[in-house]
Amino acid sequence: AKASGGNTYRFFTQEMNLRISERVTLENNLRRALDSDEIFVHYQPQTDARKQRLVGFEALVRWQHPELGIIPPTRFIPVAEESCLISQIGERVLREACQQNRRWQDMGLPPVVMAVNLSAVQLRQPDLAQRVGAILTETGLDARWLELEITESAFIHDTDRIIDVLQELQAIGIKLSVDDFGTGYSSLGYLKRLPFDRIKIDQSFVRDLPDDADDIAIVRAIIAIAASLQKEVIAEGVEQAIQRDFLLELGCDLMQGYHFGRPADAASAEAMLRTMRR
Ligand code: C2E
Ligand code: CA
Ligand code: CA
Ligand code: CA
Repeated sequence: AKASGGNTYRFFTQEMNLRISERVTLENNLRRALDSDEIFVHYQPQTDARKQRLVGFEALVRWQHPELGIIPPTRFIPVAEESCLISQIGERVLREACQQNRRWQDMGLPPVVMAVNLSAVQLRQPDLAQRVGAILTETGLDARWLELEITESAFIHDTDRIIDVLQELQAIGIKLSVDDFGTGYSSLGYLKRLPFDRIKIDQSFVRDLPDDADDIAIVRAIIAIAASLQKEVIAEGVEQAIQRDFLLELGCDLMQGYHFGRPADAASAEAMLRTMRR
């Protein structure tokens, strides 16, 4: 083990260099991609499983690189967050998602809520509410049809300032939801202090339902907290009918996951809206 120490070290620094250069390349590529049509949006249905009814979509960013193919958001969002490209990407997705939702309404399709992810970096912009408000005005979408999803880990720092920004967003009439609930190491206290409408149960707690006793306990507890704080609750990552049935039994009606539909382009999402039960 001792003899291989030097090699291990050399391997490690090489790999680090590779990662840094890969990161820079990715960042440069991303900057260029923003000026092209490589960045676009897919939509995943959110369903009321009890009423068997579509209630909304989550907008998820996609990057189709001409040579590298599809680059998943889990790879480029962190790079974008470190290079201040995230605001541009975030606003691009927001504008496109609002525009799309308004277009569907103009076609006379049943109105649904469009959920858009907000990065912790965007949340720290003091003029965020004005920027979002401007996009609503520009696209003509009424604020009640927009929801912003914010991961729990975003509230750890600058909580007081974040409360101000969230209150401004809520004052405009936008809905707010806590994403990835239960994964952020933060205290439950913020649920009381922050003006949230909805909690999203992270898919890691849903994956092993109904077999894993710990996950059952956690999901049950989250549903109970949401009910007593009078917040909506939605489960993510529902892939199987057995998970759906179990969640319904626990009293969680709203669901999102491959069982109901994968993220898909605007045309497929529109087709879902057309066949939707009214
Ligand atoms: P997220 O916000 O938690 O989004 C849910 C992710 O789970 C999506 O991955 C979605 O495709 C995936 N998913 C949905 N249903 C299922 C299921 O039944 N099973 C499994 N295994 N996965 C499911 P995606 O699109 O790759 O996005 C990953 C993450 O990237 C998102 O997690 C979000 O944190 C981030 N992201 C995506 N779009 C944006 C965006 O426009 N802005 C920001 N700031 N972040 C974004
Ligand atoms: Ca989300
Ligand atoms: Ca999530
Ligand atoms: Ca996530």
